[in-house]
Amino acid sequence: MNGARADKLVERLRERELDWLLVTNLVNVRYLSGFTGTNGVCLVGTDERLFFTDFRYVERAQAEVPDFERLRGKQDLLGDAAERFAGRVGFEDQHMSVRQHRRLTEMLPDGAELVPAGGIVEGLRAVKDEGELRAMRDAAALADEMYEYIASRGLVGRTEREVAVDVEREMRARGATDPSFPSIIAAAANGALPHATPGDSEIPADTLVIVDMGCIVDGYCSDCTRTFATGSLSNDAAAVYELVLAAQEEALAAVLPGAECKVVDAVARDKIAAAGHGEQFGHGLGHGVGLEIHEGPRLAQSAEGTLAAGNVVTVEPGVYVPGAFGVRIEDLVVVRDDGNEVLSHFPKPLMTLGA
Ligand code: ZN
Ligand code: ZN
Repeated sequence: MNGARADKLVERLRERELDWLLVTNLVNVRYLSGFTGTNGVCLVGTDERLFFTDFRYVERAQAEVPDFERLRGKQDLLGDAAERFAGRVGFEDQHMSVRQHRRLTEMLPDGAELVPAGGIVEGLRAVKDEGELRAMRDAAALADEMYEYIASRGLVGRTEREVAVDVEREMRARGATDPSFPSIIAAAANGALPHATPGDSEIPADTLVIVDMGCIVDGYCSDCTRTFATGSLSNDAAAVYELVLAAQEEALAAVLPGAECKVVDAVARDKIAAAGHGEQFGHGLGHGVGLEIHEGPRLAQSAEGTLAAGNVVTVEPGVYVPGAFGVRIEDLVVVRDDGNEVLSHFPKPLMTLGA
């Protein structure tokens, strides 16, 4: 499977007339080679696949990196890789530090040239294969379970932080390596801050609570948001909930192969704007998810490009009423050849959770 990824990468190298790509970003190294340690570099050429690591990871690499020629480097893997450079050598310019770049330039053999080539592996990563989709289904299913767990435990009278700590402990107990990102539990006016950190005040009755979280399973992230009521709501809050839900479902249905990313964003944005809340939806509709919680493609007003089968994106419109409350509803969805497959299954009609 990883061999197939390197094959695809070689096609991209040929298109760009590169002889090699030096892969230093560890997420990209993992994607291509399978290596999960913290010090590894891939050097992929049209005929050779080299993987460098240091003595600490030689054994791990033997198990994890079967499709590459494994080389034990000295401490500094860049120096080992540089000895193999020849011709046009692409490097991941969006990940490399200025210092690393200067050192590579100093070590460059005669006849070799460094070419900025960031984003190639990220482009491959945006289209998931079936093995990746299996992991993402599992990660999304675990997030669904965690919402059931939250619903069973109630929200009123607990602090945001208690709920966050509890859910993260529980997801680990059920098989997650980690949360995909620090869980967001944001009640009442805190919910109007899209990236609120959980605080120490008790969650009150009769308000809205945004819960945004995900789990990492087999290296892959999930991402899901539900907004719960904790009792009776103002007419305004109830109406905003229904608006966001309708916008979310319409945008979700627009996630199709060939759809323009900005058009999918507009489906939700136009509906929210038409109801007078356009100014209160201040972020993009969604983002790609995979080995990282934020990757390509993006669904936003400024996003270029179209969706393709194998993309996995979130659809997460929100309305944030300053000083009062926020509503966000987020599902994870796969673009398929014949439509889409929603990976988040926890129900979306407004649910009321008490103590
Ligand atoms: Zn989220
Ligand atoms: Zn998200």
